[in-house]
Amino acid sequence: MGTTGFASTTCRTSCFSPRMTSESQAVGKESRPSKIVLPWLGRPRGTANSICRRIGLLSSGGFDKSWNLTVRRLTLHATSYTRALACSSTPEETQTIRLNRALAFLKTRQHDAALSDVESATAAADKPAEKALFRKAEALYGLQQYRECCEVLKKLRLAYPDNMAAKSQLTRAISRLTEHANGKYRFKQLQDEAACARPPHLDHATYIGPVRIQASGSRGRGLFTTKAVKAGDLLFCEKAFTHAFFEKEGGFTMLVDPENGGTMGSHSELIDVTIQKLHRNPSLMPIITDLHHGSYQPVDATYVDGEPVVDTYVALLLPTTISHPNVLTRPRVYPSFLIRRIVALNCFGCPQVSTVTWHQEKRRQGQPPPTKPSTPAEDNGFHSCGIWPTASYINHSCTSNARRAFIGDMLIARATRDLPANTEVTWWYQPPHDDSAQRNKTLLRQWGFVCDCPLCEDEKSTSAAVVGKREALATGLRKQVAALQEGRGRKETGVAVAKIEAALDALAATYTRPASEVPRLAVWVAMQRLLMAVVEMEQVPMARKVRLLLAMLESLGHVIEGGVGGTVKVLQWGLMMDGVVECWAFLRDAYRLTAPELVVPAEGYARAAYKMVFGEDETFVGIYGE
Ligand SMILES: [Zn+2]
Repeated sequence: MGTTGFASTTCRTSCFSPRMTSESQAVGKESRPSKIVLPWLGRPRGTANSICRRIGLLSSGGFDKSWNLTVRRLTLHATSYTRALACSSTPEETQTIRLNRALAFLKTRQHDAALSDVESATAAADKPAEKALFRKAEALYGLQQYRECCEVLKKLRLAYPDNMAAKSQLTRAISRLTEHANGKYRFKQLQDEAACARPPHLDHATYIGPVRIQASGSRGRGLFTTKAVKAGDLLFCEKAFTHAFFEKEGGFTMLVDPENGGTMGSHSELIDVTIQKLHRNPSLMPIITDLHHGSYQPVDATYVDGEPVVDTYVALLLPTTISHPNVLTRPRVYPSFLIRRIVALNCFGCPQVSTVTWHQEKRRQGQPPPTKPSTPAEDNGFHSCGIWPTASYINHSCTSNARRAFIGDMLIARATRDLPANTEVTWWYQPPHDDSAQRNKTLLRQWGFVCDCPLCEDEKSTSAAVVGKREALATGLRKQVAALQEGRGRKETGVAVAKIEAALDALAATYTRPASEVPRLAVWVAMQRLLMAVVEMEQVPMARKVRLLLAMLESLGHVIEGGVGGTVKVLQWGLMMDGVVECWAFLRDAYRLTAPELVVPAEGYARAAYKMVFGEDETFVGIYGE
C-alpha cells in the first residue's frame, strides 16, 4: 500500500506507489471505517482554507474549525447511506436514502454519483420531489452541463413556484449558459472576483469560439480556426479543468514519485487535484486522458491476479466512493502516472490576473514604458498553474498568431493577427527572445521538440559569421545606449543618437528576409533600450521618438501605413510582444504634439494591442488614461 505522510505542518508529501491494491481490498477498508487512513486529516498545508478548498469541501467562505470532523461526518454519512440502501424495505425509503446520499456526494463534489442518485427519483415520479430536482440541478451545474441544469430548474420553478433558491439558481445557470453560448464576459468584474477569491476560482463558464481540434501533420493535433477571424477576436475563454493556486504564505506541496524523483509546489498540487477530480467524477476522465501524453504508455491492465485494479494513491484518497455502484461500474484503473505525465506536458503557469501582474512587475522595475521583452516564465507572478483542455491543443510557434491571458482560473485566448479560416492557431510556450539556441534547448527539454517557425528556421540558415556580426553590433549598441544615458543633457546627444541609429540600421541589415516574415528580435531589443534612454530627453525631438516607435513596431513585423502625419493604419499585425501595447500608447501621447489627427487611431491600436495581450480592454483606460 502506498504511504501518504506529512513531513511537517507546511510540507505535504504524497507518495505515488507503483504497487496496486485490489478493489476488494479497498472495499474491505470501507467495512472498517475506523481504520480508514484519510490523508487530509493530517493538516497537510499551511492555511486551513486552502486545505478545505483543495479537497472540495468549501467553495467559498471561511474556514470551518471543525473541518476534519466535517470530512469525517460527510464520509461516514455517505457510507452509512450506502449501507442503509442495502437494508431498505420500501421504494420510498430507498428514494429518501438516495436523496440524502446525493447531498453528501454534492458536498464532496462527487457530481457523477450525486446525479446517479437523483436521476431515478426525478425520472420516475409524476411530480418529482423538490429536493430531487434541486440536487439534480446542482449536480448538473457542477458538471458544467448548464443547458440541462436550466431545464431542470425551469421544471422545478413550474412545479414549486415558491422555491426562491431555485429562482436564484436559475438566474445563475442562465448566466453561465449565456457565457457558454456567446462568449460575452464582463472582464472587469471577473478581475474583481479574482482579486478577492482565494483561491481565485471563478464561477464562470467556458466559451469555445470559432476553433476546432484537428490533425496537424507531424505535430499531432492542433487547434484550427473554423472561420476567418480578426486580430483581437476572442478564440475561446476557458475555465480551468483544475487549477492550483500559489499562496506565498501557504507552505508547499511535495509529491514523491519513486520512479522519477518528485515535483514540488503548485505543480504537484495540480497533479493531486486533477487525480482527485477525476476520481470523484469518472465521466470527466476522457477530457484529460485524451490530451497529449508524449511517449507514455498508459496502463491497459484492468485486472491483476484476477482482481480489478485500483491505483493505491487514489484508493487511499476517497475510500468511500469505491463502494458506490456508479463508480464501481466505471473503469477501475486510475492511472495517476499517466495523469502526472499529462499534467507535466499540458499545464500552463499563470498569474492571478495577467494585467495586474504585468503592471506590478513594471512598477517593481521602476522603468518607463516600454519595458523589457516579456518573460512570463521568469515572472514572479507565474507560480500558479492549471489545466485548460482546449488550450492544451494549441501548438507552439515563436512567431505565434494568438496569445493567452489569465483572470483567476479563466484563460482568455485571442487572435493576434487576422487569420483566414482553417488556419492553425499557435502561441509561444515561452516568449521568443533573441537566442534561438537557448530557446530551442528549453523547448526540447520541456516538451520534446525543436521549433521550426520562420524565426527559428531563418536563424538556423544564418551563417556563423553573420550571427557573430549581429551579436557584436548588439553588444556595441548596448554600450552606446548606456553611454548616452550617462551623458544625458550634453550638447552632443543628437550626434550620439544619430550614431546609434546608424548602428541599428547595420544591425537590421544582418537580416535578409523582410521583418514581416522574420521578426528582428535583436533590433527590437536594441531599440527598446534606446527608447528607454531617450523617452524623457527633451533634446531628442518628439518626431524622432515617433519614428523610433514606428521602427520598433516594424522590427516585429507590423506593417504600418503612414504614422508620421495625416494617416496611420496597421496593414498587418506582427509579433505581439507585451511592449507593443506601450509603443502604441506612447505613440498616442506623442501624436498630441506632433500629429493630433492620429491620436484617435493610435488609441484604437493601443486598445487593440492591450486586448490581445491581456485578454480584455475594459481596464485599458485605468492604466493608460484617455
Ligand atoms: Zn521558433
